Amino acid sequence: MDLNFYRELTKIVPAERVKLDEPLKNHTTIRLGGPAEYYVTPESPEQLRQILFLTTAQEVDCYILGNGSNVIFSDKGYKGVVVKMGPPQDLISILDGEEEGMGVIRVGAGASLARVAMQAAEAGLTGMEFAAGIPGTVGGALLMNAGAYGGEMKDVVKDVLVINSMGRYENYTCKQLRYGYRYSILQEDTNVIVGATLVLRRGDKEEILAKITDLNNRRREKQPLEYPSAGSTFKRPEGYFAGKLIEDAGLKGYRVGDMMISEKHAGFMINVGEGTTHDAVQLIMDVQDRVEEKFGVFLEPEVRIVGYHDVVELKRE
Ligand SMILES: Cc1cc2nc3c(=O)[nH]c(=O)nc-3n(C[C@H](O)[C@H](O)[C@H](O)COP(=O)(O)OP(=O)(O)OC[C@H]3O[C@@H](n4cnc5c(N)ncnc54)[C@H](O)[C@@H]3O)c2cc1C
Repeated sequence: MDLNFYRELTKIVPAERVKLDEPLKNHTTIRLGGPAEYYVTPESPEQLRQILFLTTAQEVDCYILGNGSNVIFSDKGYKGVVVKMGPPQDLISILDGEEEGMGVIRVGAGASLARVAMQAAEAGLTGMEFAAGIPGTVGGALLMNAGAYGGEMKDVVKDVLVINSMGRYENYTCKQLRYGYRYSILQEDTNVIVGATLVLRRGDKEEILAKITDLNNRRREKQPLEYPSAGSTFKRPEGYFAGKLIEDAGLKGYRVGDMMISEKHAGFMINVGEGTTHDAVQLIMDVQDRVEEKFGVFLEPEVRIVGYHDVVELKRE
């Protein structure tokens, strides 16, 4: 720890909101990752802005974390600041839309997607049902263009407020974000999403709630929700399904240490005990190699692996 940096950081955020050497495995749904040098939970966008300004000025690495449901950190942890987006940056307010039959949701980036979907449903707004079972925050979902069952964030986003690496606020319209499959322009730069405006249509509350129940039941049936995971390990290659390719390559149940390809759904890598990121990365590369050998298809990870140097080391072994 650098005492001078710590002193500057705790001038911005109260010391009880700055943890040192915090195990990141406690903050990722797949339960992997070593310690974060500084783990900070800001109370406001202004604190967030000042943290970004400080880390940029002092050339300290900074990583923004939502619910950690799509990230794997290195076993060595993260040298720098991990900023956790959650409460109190999780306000949700539902307003009437400008157009007849529409509703508007203003939402903080730290809000849980499931909670936004449920509140929209309770208000009789349709369009967020797809997101009710995605265990992320709004910020992570906007960056990833999270989607399921035919819906995607891009279908409901009007605009997104971010703070850029210079600590300035910028507003992006949905079009400017150039959304694609699990892609947005926000992935290209250090932007911190602060909040967004979503626009939804008015619908029948009971039908919306029934759809959410149905989609969540389908998830429980098909996905290994009883184990820690980061959701789909790989993106869907064009014309194929990653899970099907992995299954057809005979890799269901394939294991490296305590990391395993789920028997229930081969698209998921699960942590069945004391898995490590080293094991996870090895497993990902083994699956990539086997699927490419067998079907000539390269599987690109959907999970974001932070501290990628581990992968390079593994390639050399
Ligand atoms: C059981 C399970 C099921 C899943 N099902 C789906 C699914 O159906 N569809 C789907 O798309 N995904 C799914 N996922 C993956 C994951 O939930 C989504 O990608 C989700 O949107 C990630 O949100 P998060 O808050 O957890 O982001 P994190 O995992 O914390 O972060 C993901 C990325 O977003 C960045 N980020 C997070 N918040 C911000 C912010 N405020 N500003 C800037 N950058 C930010 C992080 O730096 C990181 O690069 C699933 C995961 C699990 C564990």
